[in-house]
Parts: sequence; structure tokens; C-alpha cells
Amino acid sequence: MNTIEAAKIQRAAVLGAGTMGHGIAHVLATSGITTKLYDLMPGAVERGLASVRANLDKGVQKGKVTQADRDAAVARLSGTIQLDEAIEGVDLVIEAVPEKLELKQQIFSNIGEKLGSHVLLATNTSSLPIARIASVTPHAERVVGMHFFNPVHIMKLIEVVTTDRSSASAVRTAVELGVRLGKDPIVVKDAPGFASSRLGILLGLEAIRMLESGIASAQDIDKAMTLGYGHPMGPLQLTDLVGLDVRLSIAQYLEKEFGSRFAPPALLIEKVARGELGKKSGKGFYEWKE
Ligand code: NAD
Repeated sequence: MNTIEAAKIQRAAVLGAGTMGHGIAHVLATSGITTKLYDLMPGAVERGLASVRANLDKGVQKGKVTQADRDAAVARLSGTIQLDEAIEGVDLVIEAVPEKLELKQQIFSNIGEKLGSHVLLATNTSSLPIARIASVTPHAERVVGMHFFNPVHIMKLIEVVTTDRSSASAVRTAVELGVRLGKDPIVVKDAPGFASSRLGILLGLEAIRMLESGIASAQDIDKAMTLGYGHPMGPLQLTDLVGLDVRLSIAQYLEKEFGSRFAPPALLIEKVARGELGKKSGKGFYEWKE
């Protein structure tokens, strides 16, 4: 059976309600899709839903979202800590749990049998092999990567990552869904780090190594890239926004695949061990206040 067409998707589940999961739920709900946000932790679900409401309210204040659109999006969005409840009757699943292959495989294997044969199954992994995540489901042809960027409701890019087994209809649905969500998708083959993370992580790791060896302050390293190269944000500030733990997991995986040029610097490992995870924990390379 073909994967459902993007225009016909009515119900979705987002698995993982953290930085990315709540953002993905936001853009699905504002695009007319009834969305369940699932997480293991009740607190994470509540925080995720509250962040979506806060971002929509900001949009209303700035005149970018109408009050009616905000209210309709909020009405389409609900949360749950029951996986079976989240995926019941859905046309689309997007997984956004932490960057651990075994964890993603466990989730895909849990839900694979329970989904209708029209459902598009996407993972928001930043670097892990989509084929290995897909391999645990009975429907590898309907699995693709849909790699969103942070903050999801603002960033235009989606990397649609395809495996040798992804069907043409699944890839088409993912690309058309990206457009429906107001994004500008690119299609990339399944390779470690895809197009974006492979380049972005390298810059981030080198910036951390420069900070470690005292070459310049975090602010000045970031300024070199913003003022010198026209990047909208420096690599250290971006690492704070992404999450130091998320970037460490990606670097560790890419080091295994590509060797020592992706080895995480000691400073990154130490900061993660101290719980300095960036914006989400209040401190990373910078201090963050609400
Ligand atoms: P996060 O740590 O902010 O959120 C992960 C959430 O998953 C947490 O709320 C956690 O409670 C939940 N979780 C953990 N185990 C779970 C399980 N078994 N079932 C359900 N929920 C579970 O992480 P994030 O930054 O949102 O990253 C999620 C994924 O998105 C990762 O694969 C990451 O590589 C990718 N990604 C992250 C960014 C970014 O900028 N942070 C950008 C693109 C892609």
C-alpha cells in the first residue's frame, strides 16, 4: 500500500516532548493536523505543551499569528504518557527521543506492528543511520528521516533522509509534508550526519577546542563567525541552543564512523557531566535566563 498523501494527513503522534518534539508538534498543529505529544515523563509533556502555547502567544503579540489560528492550533494539540494512546488512529509518527540508536530502535520496534499500512514513520535523528532504525520495523519502506531544525517553528529547513528501502511514495509524502508545514525540504541519502550535522558539528567541535586552548573568549569566537562569515549565530551559541548533550551524542557517533576529526573535546564532555547542557539547563558556554 502507498504511504498516505501529505495533504490527507489528519492525525499525528510526536514521540518525545523535548526541545524538538514540542517544536514539531507546534508546526503540525498550526498546519491543521491533530497532534498527540508523547513523552515518558509527565513533566516533559506539560512543559512541551506550555512551550508551544507560549510560542504561539508570542506570535500573536508580534502580529504573526491570529488569535483564532492560535486557539485552533492549541485545540488540535494534546499530550499523553501512554504510547499506545499517542499512536492510535494516526497517519503520521515523528520520533524525537534522545540521540541513542537502541532507544530509537526500541520505540520503532514497539510501534511498528500497531500502525496502519498507510502511516509515514519519520525519525528526527540528527545523525544516526535511518536504515538501522527502519530495520526493526515490518515497514522499512515507510520509514524516512525528517530532520527539523531548532527552533522548529522558525527554521525553514527540513532534511528528508532516504534509505535504499524508503518507497517513492514515502519520500514524496515527507517532502510534501515539509512544504505543508511551511518548510523548504532537501533530500539527502542516508549517511552519517546527513548534509547538515556532518558540517555543523565539525565547526562546533573546533570552536570548543579553540575555547579550550584559550585562543579567544566564547563571545569572540562566535563573533568571528557572525561578523566575519555572516552566520546568524556563532557555533558556541548554537551549541547552547541545540544542547551540549545532543551535540556530544552526535560527535561520539560520527567519531565512530569518520574517525578522530569528530572526537568530542574534553571541555564538552566535562560540561555535559556537570549538567551544563546549554539553554535548556540555564548554562552552557553562556548563562541563560528565562
Ligand atoms: P531533548 O533531550 O530536549 O528531548 C528528548 C525528550 O525525549 C525528553 O523530553 C525525554 O523525556 C524524552 N524521552 C526519553 N526517552 C523516551 C522514550 N523512551 N519515550 C518517549 N520519550 C522519551 O532532546 P532534543 O534536543 O529534542 O532531541 C531529540 C532528537 O532530535 C534527537 O535525536 C536529536 O539528535 C534530534 N535533533 C535535535 C536538535 C536540537 O537542536 N536539539 C535538532 C535537530 C534534531
